[in-house]
Amino acid sequence: MGLVNHTTATWQLLDTKHFLHPFTDHKALHATGSRIIESAEGIYLWDSDGNRILDGMAGLWCVNVGYGRTELAEVAREQMEKLPYYNTFFQTAHPPVIELSELLADVTPDGFNRAFFTNSGSESIDTVVRMARHYWSLLGQPTKQIIISRTNAYHGSTMAGASLCGMPHIHSQGGLPIPGITHIGQPYWYREGGNQSPEDFGRAVAQQLEQKIQELGEHQVAAFIAEPIQGAGGVIIPPTTYWPEITDICRRHQILLVADEVICGFGRTGQWFGADTYKILPDLMPIAKGLSSGYLPIGAVMIADHIANVLIEEGGEFFHGMTYSGHPVACAVSSANIRILRDENIIQQVGNDTGPYLQKKWQKLADHPLVGEARGLGFLGALELVESKSKRKTYDPLGHAGAVCRDAALSNGLIMRAVGDTMIISPPLVMTREQIDELVVLAEQSLDDALTSLRN
Ligand SMILES: *Cc1c(COP(=O)(O)O)cnc(C)c1O
Repeated sequence: MGLVNHTTATWQLLDTKHFLHPFTDHKALHATGSRIIESAEGIYLWDSDGNRILDGMAGLWCVNVGYGRTELAEVAREQMEKLPYYNTFFQTAHPPVIELSELLADVTPDGFNRAFFTNSGSESIDTVVRMARHYWSLLGQPTKQIIISRTNAYHGSTMAGASLCGMPHIHSQGGLPIPGITHIGQPYWYREGGNQSPEDFGRAVAQQLEQKIQELGEHQVAAFIAEPIQGAGGVIIPPTTYWPEITDICRRHQILLVADEVICGFGRTGQWFGADTYKILPDLMPIAKGLSSGYLPIGAVMIADHIANVLIEEGGEFFHGMTYSGHPVACAVSSANIRILRDENIIQQVGNDTGPYLQKKWQKLADHPLVGEARGLGFLGALELVESKSKRKTYDPLGHAGAVCRDAALSNGLIMRAVGDTMIISPPLVMTREQIDELVVLAEQSLDDALTSLRN
């Protein structure tokens, strides 16, 4: 621990010299220097200059139980002392991985009783792609290979995960997408719904799935994958008609339905899973983020019984797994994290009390002159920044207003993320009503400040 006495400037210097950051423009970073986060407690972060920042994003959508949970550190320490590592390949297991598997069967929707472990959301998505294709091969339908995803989806950063993302800038690097992946539209009513009602629009976008399946031929399609609520795409809340239609189409066509629960899982929407909130009946559910509340890297794929039975009865060996699949320390910490969510009734609180309270206050931000729409569900929220509300017209260039508002928020001690000109939040699920008041006051102040700079 030799470097604790560095100042912000020396941290920044060393950072630019030696650390190549993910999702970062390095030239721009070198001009400004990194923000160095040193510690955290509850819903607050402290940077290396001693500033307190309210973390409106729960890290990257993951610190559901909040920072500073010493009981999770205790569990990690005990597990490291007892069995820091052993693999789960080749007919081996250990108590933490079995315990977590059982807990997951308990908290996931009915019909999900088996978990396959990975170390991240992206690895879970890669696992889904291989597993879905393998499943259809086992059933004698090896031509069912194509995975249908959506525009503006986010499914991670591995080759398959990034391919399933619906973001052109991601595909522009490294020769993506990989073969066998295609996209349909997204249920983004505010930006793409035009004059249609949200309900009509939701149905119409869902029907693109039917059209795509017909175009490709059902015999070629393995699965459709979607986030119950798109997160990184801008917290896009689908119209109420969307998910029933999608579920119906997948059932009618023998297409596996994959609910990417990496953000929605573990309470984000006020229920355990997005699938519970939207009454989706998925076949596979990739999970990560809130699984450990970010305390250690871990992901998994939850597998519905009818899929698992085929893999087990017909499958032989599935040639897939990572050295750290089912890592004992990550599993022990995840089990403890799930018990915190369950035993402290954190998810019920978001569902019945603090979630509706946050949404009521958040909706009021729609009165702000800069906000064209305020939307959200549970502990997810988005604000569409516009120059003209009636025309839904954004400031020019796209992304400028978002960046201005994000920087204003940070100066005010709030982390709010900008996706283009959409401001988004995804705070820790343990926020109290008083802390929600504080978040909304800071957000409003930041909108005021952003409007002032945009008008100058
Ligand atoms: C973050 C995310 C992923 C990727 O998870 P990583 O742990 O970053 O690999 C996949 N899907 C969704 C919906 C995500 O938000």
